[in-house]
Amino acid sequence: MPNILHSILTPFRDLLFVADCLHCGTPLRDGDRRVCRQCWDSLTPVRGGDHTLEVLRARFAAGGAIDGLEALCYFEKGGLLQSLAHALKYGEVTALGYELGYRLGAIVPPGSTDLIIPVPLNKRKERERGYNQSDWIGKGLSERTGIPFRTDIVRRRRYTVTQTHLNAQERKKNIADAFEVVLPQAVQHASCIIVDDIITTGSTIQELAAVLKQAGAARIVAAAAGLARLGEDG
Ligand SMILES: [Zn+2]
Repeated sequence: MPNILHSILTPFRDLLFVADCLHCGTPLRDGDRRVCRQCWDSLTPVRGGDHTLEVLRARFAAGGAIDGLEALCYFEKGGLLQSLAHALKYGEVTALGYELGYRLGAIVPPGSTDLIIPVPLNKRKERERGYNQSDWIGKGLSERTGIPFRTDIVRRRRYTVTQTHLNAQERKKNIADAFEVVLPQAVQHASCIIVDDIITTGSTIQELAAVLKQAGAARIVAAAAGLARLGEDG
């Protein structure tokens, strides 16, 4: 099937012909969205006081751009979130991103910020995939919390220069140049949630937050479907 047709039809096929759980393979019941209830329940929730959460919160506080962090669950090897992340990236199962965002909405107070902004992909990657999975997480989060969702405020520049021959200062600037706020008036004095699928070191989301603050945003909360667990030294 030509690529374009494939990317148009596949999400509908996934919605219409629901069959087995994407993770464990048991037949789905009415109302299950691609994953069975037991598998959704198997996600390990992120809780206040957890080592990883507190290390990231401290790292963000020290960086000065991100004022808060919320995350749904841990990304575990072989776990549901790995299947979901894989499906989101390669299987074009956009309904899963939406469901993750909707669940994330349970821990984000309605009306707590003015805007939801997903971490943008660069255009080439988005074209290859057909969509940005963080957009779908953002849509689900917006539906649950009533906070407006915007994809037109910030964009990723096409390519960052290769880092190899840059010194530390130049590298930092190079990464910071990865994002561009195209509608700075939309974030003036605003508090924003920036949404990513999985946070590992948090450096990308910190750079996006810094760019939004430079453009005039007042407060930034980072939110992710998954956190990669940090080691005790991490
Ligand atoms: Zn299952």
